[in-house]
Amino acid sequence: MYANGWQPHPFRQFLLKVHSRCNLACDYCYVYTLADQSWRSQPKIMSPEIVSAAAKRIAEHAAAHGISAVRLILHGGEPLLAGPAFLREAVAAIRAAAAPHVQVEAVVQTNGVLLDERALRSFDDLAVKVGVSLDGSARGNDRNRRFADGRSSFADVAGALALLMRPAFRHLYSGLLCTVDLGNDPIETYDALAQFQPPMIDFLLPHGTWDSPPPGRTADSERTPYGDWLITVFDRWYGSSGGPEVRLFQEIINLLLGGASASEAVGLTPSSLVVIETDGTIEQTDSLKVVRHGAAATGLNIVDHALDAALRHPGIVARQLGWEALSDTCTSCRFARVCGGGLYPHRYRPGTGFRNPSVYCHDLYRLIGHIRSRLVDDLRRSSR
Ligand code: SF4
Repeated sequence: MYANGWQPHPFRQFLLKVHSRCNLACDYCYVYTLADQSWRSQPKIMSPEIVSAAAKRIAEHAAAHGISAVRLILHGGEPLLAGPAFLREAVAAIRAAAAPHVQVEAVVQTNGVLLDERALRSFDDLAVKVGVSLDGSARGNDRNRRFADGRSSFADVAGALALLMRPAFRHLYSGLLCTVDLGNDPIETYDALAQFQPPMIDFLLPHGTWDSPPPGRTADSERTPYGDWLITVFDRWYGSSGGPEVRLFQEIINLLLGGASASEAVGLTPSSLVVIETDGTIEQTDSLKVVRHGAAATGLNIVDHALDAALRHPGIVARQLGWEALSDTCTSCRFARVCGGGLYPHRYRPGTGFRNPSVYCHDLYRLIGHIRSRLVDDLRRSSR
């Protein structure tokens, strides 16, 4: 416990970078194209010894904090490069090490290129859910998500999604992850994603900071290109029925109605995610790699250190502090409890560190204000 009575929140989500390389070369990738280039020194694949050390540490952490359910995220690079047999063994090892009452929910986040029937059968055997990254239509997706030689990845991913939509595998489908590209039409993007019938779509804002703003956003401009793009999608989604859940919108609605968020993108819920790199080093969220080389590092590793040591790391404490970590501008903002200052790395500015509003401040303010207005209109109509 800290002097002011604040206590760290245990980790409940463990992101394992089972393979450090990728078979795509996406323009905006936070691992390969941003300030941090630490992937270059990583082994290609996680060794069995590191998997076993991670299993032991996760089990130990769950037992120490009385946790009965954890989430294991198989990530990369591209995790399917590790092969279905490796992934099966990793999930089995982590479940075997956990106490019998601890539920280990597993999900693989893939670019879909290698997602074939054999891989899906293997995931089905171990109830591993599958999330796929896709940025919309063939034209939209291929603006950024291509092979290193420039070839389109869309047909491969669309083929994988057709398999995932089959009745035999549909229950494994966790959703689509789409990075917003202002060069793509928002309606065309949403409709293209919805055609693959995902249970959930998560829109991610491209990573950026005040000194390295995201594409199409000038740091101090009051223009709201990302807010406008997302509002167009929101209006399409909100007015339709039977479509997928859109995580960002649902989180904002929950927060506006007084609930909590389950995502770090908005709200003030303490972060519960820790990253275990391919070589066993313990890191903070990958998105910090946008800030500078080594920004996600903790100096700890899964062989020599318990995960409790990472809970005391200043960067992880800051991502758990919520309100206390906000800038004065944010604490006096009418949407502070909904926005939460946006994603932590997006607040970075040299000199003042992370105690700033998000580089997406104007976009978030406009989006939240719009969603609030739509909700208020609906509530008024339904109470007439
Ligand atoms: S909208 Fe801007 S000022 Fe308000 S909480 Fe979000 S980042 Fe902070």
